[in-house]
Amino acid sequence: QAKLQGRNHFQIYQAANNDNYQANVILRSEFQQAIDDDALQLHYQPIIDLHSGRVVTVEALMRWITPDGRFISPGEFIPLAESTGQIIPAGRWALRKACTDVHEMQQFGAIRVAVNLSALQFHRADFFDQVQQILEETGTPADLLELELTESILMENSNHTIEVLQRFKEVGIRVAIDDFGTGFSGLSYLKKLPVSKLKIDRIFVQDIDQSASDQAITAGVINMATQVDMEVIAEGVETLAQITMLKQLGCGYIQGFYYAKPMPLEELKVYLAQHA
Ligand code: C2E
Ligand code: MG
Ligand code: MG
Ligand code: MG
Repeated sequence: QAKLQGRNHFQIYQAANNDNYQANVILRSEFQQAIDDDALQLHYQPIIDLHSGRVVTVEALMRWITPDGRFISPGEFIPLAESTGQIIPAGRWALRKACTDVHEMQQFGAIRVAVNLSALQFHRADFFDQVQQILEETGTPADLLELELTESILMENSNHTIEVLQRFKEVGIRVAIDDFGTGFSGLSYLKKLPVSKLKIDRIFVQDIDQSASDQAITAGVINMATQVDMEVIAEGVETLAQITMLKQLGCGYIQGFYYAKPMPLEELKVYLAQHA
């Protein structure tokens, strides 16, 4: 009886896995269609300087709505696009689009745009040149662009990584470490990296108004970052209580639903007109 049941479970598991595989094949070709049809979108989420209350940067976040109206979350399609290599053309599109849109934001102040990168993009030998070319084509000053890299990309800590980061720094492109604290990297390696910003992941922010350990960790990160001249941004801030605590701990910048959700360019312009 037990054996039979086990077998049934296995078959159900296998069937589900198979469905999953087929769903991914379909999703993959639909995503390719979206790239080819120029149907991807970027939404922008403001990052606020706690000191001045102004928007300093907006983060570009990719959005994909299928022709039949399904919203697929980046948590789903980004890993898929990374596994198929489609993140290369999609990421290039995002960079170019962000560098085009950032011009429309300048009437509201010197707003910078931050673009997320995948490891696959960053490790391409021609990546630096590609960024330079996009800046040129779109007539964008380098210091209006920021790049967000995850800890896992930086942790490899190879000479190549440091070299590329150094080149970005020299031309004035700021680099931020995204999702900081989720990659088990330890703090000492930061000293070696030519990066100018650190984004504390939402998992440390969620309960920060109540959790003594989250407060201690965040205080430590902020102290260390300040000493090596890095700016600290708290991600996923949703409440005033979190902001009050983060301010107390010396955090300089805030991003989260409390201020604004990611939004299309036209909506962002209305937001900036009111807040910048
Ligand atoms: P991320 O770079 O850490 O972006 C922040 C994510 O947190 C976004 O999710 C944003 O919508 C969400 N968020 C912002 N404030 C809050 C808040 O107060 N509460 C909560 N619960 N969430 C908040 P999103 O847009 O779903 O993107 C998820 C991830 O997908 C991004 O995380 C990034 O890693 C990746 N991604 C998005 N666009 C791109 C892209 O163009 N290229 C690459 N390589 N990755 C991207
Ligand atoms: Mg990011
Ligand atoms: Mg993040
Ligand atoms: Mg994240």
